Amino acid sequence: MTARTPMIRMASVDKHFGELHVLRDINLEVAAGQVVVVLGPSGSGKSTLCRTINRLEPIDSGTIEVDGQALPAEGKALAALRADVGMVFQSFNLFAHKTILENVTLGPIKVRRIGKDDAEKSGLALLERVGIADQKDKYPAQLSGGQQQRAAIARALAMKPKVMLFDEPTSALDPEMVQEVLDVMTTLAKDGMTMLVVTHEMGFARRAANRVVFMSDGEIVEDAPPETFFSNPTSDRAKDFLGKIL
Ligand code: ADP
Ligand code: MG
Repeated sequence: MTARTPMIRMASVDKHFGELHVLRDINLEVAAGQVVVVLGPSGSGKSTLCRTINRLEPIDSGTIEVDGQALPAEGKALAALRADVGMVFQSFNLFAHKTILENVTLGPIKVRRIGKDDAEKSGLALLERVGIADQKDKYPAQLSGGQQQRAAIARALAMKPKVMLFDEPTSALDPEMVQEVLDVMTTLAKDGMTMLVVTHEMGFARRAANRVVFMSDGEIVEDAPPETFFSNPTSDRAKDFLGKIL
């Protein structure tokens, strides 16, 4: 793909849950290396937006492309595309009966067909990068929430994704563990990863985001650089939202 092909491109995307129009004419492009923070009230469609990007949720109409490739509906092509899109959830979703290192090597071995030794070597390097290499032989329940979430980030990175989606990655953490996870995400952003991050951490949005996308009732209402969005929101809905959280 050319340098100008957006890493994520959503065009005229609509989705309903029954009567509920949860995504309304979503048009969103994220360039390679950009970090976009998605803000918005609870129920505005932020999680659904993330989930449509790797087809955890089907859409009714419109197109979604990752690195210029339309999303295949199923089969091997879908598995490959999912591998290109790493996702980190609020709940860490680690495999409880696998060690931390096994959690990180499983995907590369099964989906990317990497040999066990190579997968362990890269897995260890990733655990090193997120600061928990010393925890590699433990099981998820033996780690703190912050360590588990860092393991979940390492596991997603092990697939060598082109894009990382984060859906409220720090919302389930005790306050003292939030920063260690945000630090890992900030480093990732600086290293050039393309990221879409749903978060309520306004400090992260201000420091790490190239753009803030504000959603309300399934619509993208504002799309602006953080300094513009925070100092000069244009819509009443964004002003109201910021008034409640800041
Ligand atoms: P947010 O992440 O911004 O809080 P969500 O994307 O989770 O919002 O949800 C948007 C709306 O869609 C909410 O009203 C929610 O109740 C509804 N919703 C989410 N998932 C489903 C589902 N699987 N079935 C029906 N309604 C859903
Ligand atoms: Mg959500």
